[in-house]
Amino acid sequence: MTILPALAYNLLMRCIYLDHAASTPCDPRVLEVMRPYFFEQSGNASSPYKQGRQARKALEEAREILAAFIGALPGEIIFTSGASESNNHAIFSMARALKDKGQHIIASAIEHHSVLEPLRQLERDGFQVTYVKPGADGIIAYEDIKSAVRSDTAFVCLAHANNEIGTVQPVKQVGRWCREQGISFLVDATQTVGHIPVDVKNIPCDFLSLSAHKFYGPQGVGALYIRGGKCSAFILGGDQERGHRAGTYNIPGIVGLGEAIKLCRSEMSEEAPRETVLRDKIIDSVLKNIPSAVLNGNREKRLPNNVHFSFEGINGEELVSALDLAGVAVSMGSACTWGQLEPSHVLKAIGLTDRMALGSLRITTGRWTTDDDIVYFLEQLKLKVNQLNTRH
Ligand code: PMP
Repeated sequence: MTILPALAYNLLMRCIYLDHAASTPCDPRVLEVMRPYFFEQSGNASSPYKQGRQARKALEEAREILAAFIGALPGEIIFTSGASESNNHAIFSMARALKDKGQHIIASAIEHHSVLEPLRQLERDGFQVTYVKPGADGIIAYEDIKSAVRSDTAFVCLAHANNEIGTVQPVKQVGRWCREQGISFLVDATQTVGHIPVDVKNIPCDFLSLSAHKFYGPQGVGALYIRGGKCSAFILGGDQERGHRAGTYNIPGIVGLGEAIKLCRSEMSEEAPRETVLRDKIIDSVLKNIPSAVLNGNREKRLPNNVHFSFEGINGEELVSALDLAGVAVSMGSACTWGQLEPSHVLKAIGLTDRMALGSLRITTGRWTTDDDIVYFLEQLKLKVNQLNTRH
């Protein structure tokens, strides 16, 4: 990381941001590459003249960069508005294509809502879904997926890493087995692309979702990998994306996604071990200094930047607010469920009581998180947990 973007970042954020699983800030180097596509190169990629051709070239370059990064072919990538759209599309597309084969689906019980809600819709339409629970460490056992299979199982959904507790799932094994059985497989890789290796040659799957704002690209743009490049169209009304997804391309966003991938490609191998050190420092310090803390999720099989605790007797919303006042941005878990008083489905699935689930805190570090940030955060956390403990 060069000094200039780091400074710009600190000035811009004016706080210690430890919620990168919710969204990563756009890297200033990404923004720089996107900028011309808002102005002098702002053509529509479907237009026949120079600006249109420039936009199309940029679009196809980004597609090639992403495809190469995940071991796919450019024709197997479709750009979307983000992972929610990608997951929705993959699920409805598989359901439509496979309904004559079978109306049974297997999914982990800790999928993101953008997987769970389409599945609930399919259940209302007559499909049956088996939700496989993780162990207490937040890992889905490969054998449990295998034993949930039926003769009419059409497809399996398993996120590569969980967005709340950061546990990394055995997608390689599940993918290989699904391929042998002729069962389709969706991998939601939103939390892993750009952070740990994701290669569809090693993770056999039919669909894979990702979102640029989880790896320092802009918000509102993502992609769907489609094995073989063929599935039903999901937005009708134009021939963009070979007719699969109509609508004017978000060229600045797509260019940003491509540039963000390039940066991850060159920095990920150093960044992941650096963040692992910070992660382990947080875990060791909290478990040693805050007796009410319990670590959620397997200690090793987790994302390099994810730490997730529950604190006995603490209200997570109050803790998040107290840390916010101290200039630290963290969350209870999923940004998508913030404000709902319901305990997280992920924490319930790993066996937490409602009380412990509501006393949780997710800390996710990022590209610009420093040792000093962690020192300050740990001090503040101890202080706030003590204060909240004495109040109750
Ligand atoms: N899947 C996972 C695992 C996620 O973490 C998220 C974002 N929280 C999504 C899907 C949805 O991504 P987006 O909001 O970019 O559509």
